Amino acid sequence: MDHGSRWKIGSRPYQVITARVHPGESNASWVMKGTLEFLVSGDPVARLLRENFIFKIIPMLNPDGVINGNHRCSLRGEDLNRQWLSPNAHLQPTIYHAKGLLYYLSSIGRRPVVFCDFHGHSQKKNVFLYGCSIKETLWQADCKVGTSALLEDVSYRTLPKILDKLAPAFTMSSCSFLVEKSRASTARVVVWREMGVSRSYTMESSYCGCNQGPYKLYQLHKQLDGCYHALSWLFFTFLHRGA
Ligand SMILES: [Zn+2]
Repeated sequence: MDHGSRWKIGSRPYQVITARVHPGESNASWVMKGTLEFLVSGDPVARLLRENFIFKIIPMLNPDGVINGNHRCSLRGEDLNRQWLSPNAHLQPTIYHAKGLLYYLSSIGRRPVVFCDFHGHSQKKNVFLYGCSIKETLWQADCKVGTSALLEDVSYRTLPKILDKLAPAFTMSSCSFLVEKSRASTARVVVWREMGVSRSYTMESSYCGCNQGPYKLYQLHKQLDGCYHALSWLFFTFLHRGA
């Protein structure tokens, strides 16, 4: 490797992708499988992504829960996606170290441009994102304080808009950008609030398949191409927008 390309690697932005914190959401692992296979493939877009980003990927945040057949919890009976505020190195080691990685990247000035945690949704159909917007949260709460002067980085909206255009399984109308009190200790909200990652998302894929487009009536394992390609295209588009 020459010095030029080594320097280039050192300057590439990071993206952090995680999945399967909830053991019962096995479709999240299918989406992760598709994402990994695409990113290491010979597809020209995948090559461009590898040349322009560093991906830090944790495919399974709750392996003990998965191995033991739990539905939502760890072996301690905890929902690990409610432990991100102050994870313990011994009691919630995967969350502790995942958060440690994100803190480390922030501390060296390499905060990721995208954080995305893959989940499965038991009720809604298709694929959609949850993000974080303080402005939208105040609007929804019918806040009496004027929010027009409140400045906010609106780049969190770009990703779902691109997915809505490119991914037949994606549905914008199911997306939400509210920062609910009940979600304060989730990966999405903690990474947004503590690390300042404006594009911090939970990506939900339905347990129940799709009710729109070419994947209508199909289960998610049939539609994975669309899902992971969509994400990859998204990253690609971000790259060319310089977002
Ligand atoms: Zn989940």
